[in-house]
Amino acid sequence: MRLVFIGPPGAGKGTQCVRLTEFLGVPHLSTGDMLRDAVQAKTKVGRLAKKYMGRGQLVPDPVIIDLIGERLGRDDCAAGYLLDGFPRTVGQAESLDEYGRGAKQPLDFALELQVDEENLVSRLLERGREDDKEKVIRRRLIAYRKQTEPVAEYYQQQDILKRIDGNTTPETVFERIKAALVR
Ligand code: ADP
Repeated sequence: MRLVFIGPPGAGKGTQCVRLTEFLGVPHLSTGDMLRDAVQAKTKVGRLAKKYMGRGQLVPDPVIIDLIGERLGRDDCAAGYLLDGFPRTVGQAESLDEYGRGAKQPLDFALELQVDEENLVSRLLERGREDDKEKVIRRRLIAYRKQTEPVAEYYQQQDILKRIDGNTTPETVFERIKAALVR
């Protein structure tokens, strides 16, 4: 199964991805994790990405499209994948569609995890990652609304979007996700 998982920072995507990847037996591809690895390893991509990440801005599309394109070409993605944090812009979604058409592998579903803003901010402040400072959080939420909500709309138009209410316990959210993954 080929899935895209989108949701604002703090929605609990990470937690659900761990469960879902095990349940489906497909690799979990998180662009956030891939970028943080690149920053750690001080690669060219990492040095470039660091500036954007620290400011709560998106890394430019061509950089991220290259990164994920390379990853999707590996053998372990043949039977499917769970994309976490990608696509984040309509441009990225269009590239993924082109890639899928080329490889004759369309997406099965796009999941959007929806959580109220006050819950998001308090969850993120508790987590305390490097980019989890209130000012940076607010910017990431703005970037989400401006750039990523249109991605949900894009998948809505393709009729593969499933919206999940994430304002509850991880167990209940996971049950809702499993229930949504049927046509
Ligand atoms: P969050 O969803 O909590 O913001 P992520 O780990 O998904 O966390 O992403 C952290 C940062 O990495 C983002 O703020 C952004 O700078 C960068 N990033 C991750 N995925 C993408 C992407 N698909 N396109 C552009 N930038 C990205």
